[in-house]
Amino acid sequence: MLSWIAMAAMAAPAEWVALAPEAGVLHVLSPDRAWGSPGLVQALQNASRLVAARFPDADPVVVGDLSSPGGGPLEGHKTHHEGRDADVGLFLGAGGQPEGGFVEVGPDRLDLDATWTLIQALLDHPDVRYLLLDQAHIDALRHWLSVERGMGSATLDAIFPAPGAPWGLTAVVRHAPDHSSHIHVHIGAEPES
Ligand SMILES: [Zn+2]
Repeated sequence: MLSWIAMAAMAAPAEWVALAPEAGVLHVLSPDRAWGSPGLVQALQNASRLVAARFPDADPVVVGDLSSPGGGPLEGHKTHHEGRDADVGLFLGAGGQPEGGFVEVGPDRLDLDATWTLIQALLDHPDVRYLLLDQAHIDALRHWLSVERGMGSATLDAIFPAPGAPWGLTAVVRHAPDHSSHIHVHIGAEPES
C-alpha cells in the first residue's frame, strides 16, 4: 500500500494557477516562481485575507516561492516541484513582514499573535497537510498559546506533533531545520477524478 507521501509525489496538479499580489493583503516576492495548484493558491489567499481583516495595521503577508509554471526542480529547494509547496513570511515585531525577503530570526522577534492567526488560517484550509517551522518558533508559539489562550497540552500536541511522530497526521505544524525565516506550507494531492 502506498503512503500518502508516495501518492502525493506521483500526482501533479491538473491545473496551474499564478498567485497574484493583493494590495495590503498579500505580497509576492517572485511572480515567476509563484505558480501552484488551485488549492494551494486558495489557501494562501484565504489565510492572508483573514490576517489582513484581523490585523488591519499589519504588513501584507509576504509569499516567497511556490513553483515554476508547470513545476519541475526549483533552484534553492528540495521540494516545490509540483505546485503543492509555498514559503510564507513570519510576522515580526508588531505586524511586520520581511518585504525584502526572508530573514532568519530568533523566536523573540516573532509577533506571535499575528503569526498564530496566519498559521491557524492556513491549517483551516482542507487541503493543507502540514506546515514546517523551526522548533524554537514552535516552542515559542506553544508557550504563548498556553499562557495567552489557555490552550491545553493535548490540543497543543495535536497541532504540533513531537519530532518523530508519524507523518500520516494532517493539518499540523512540524519542525524542520532551516525554517527560522519562514513557514513552509504543503498541501495534499487533489482527489483523482
Ligand atoms: Zn519551502
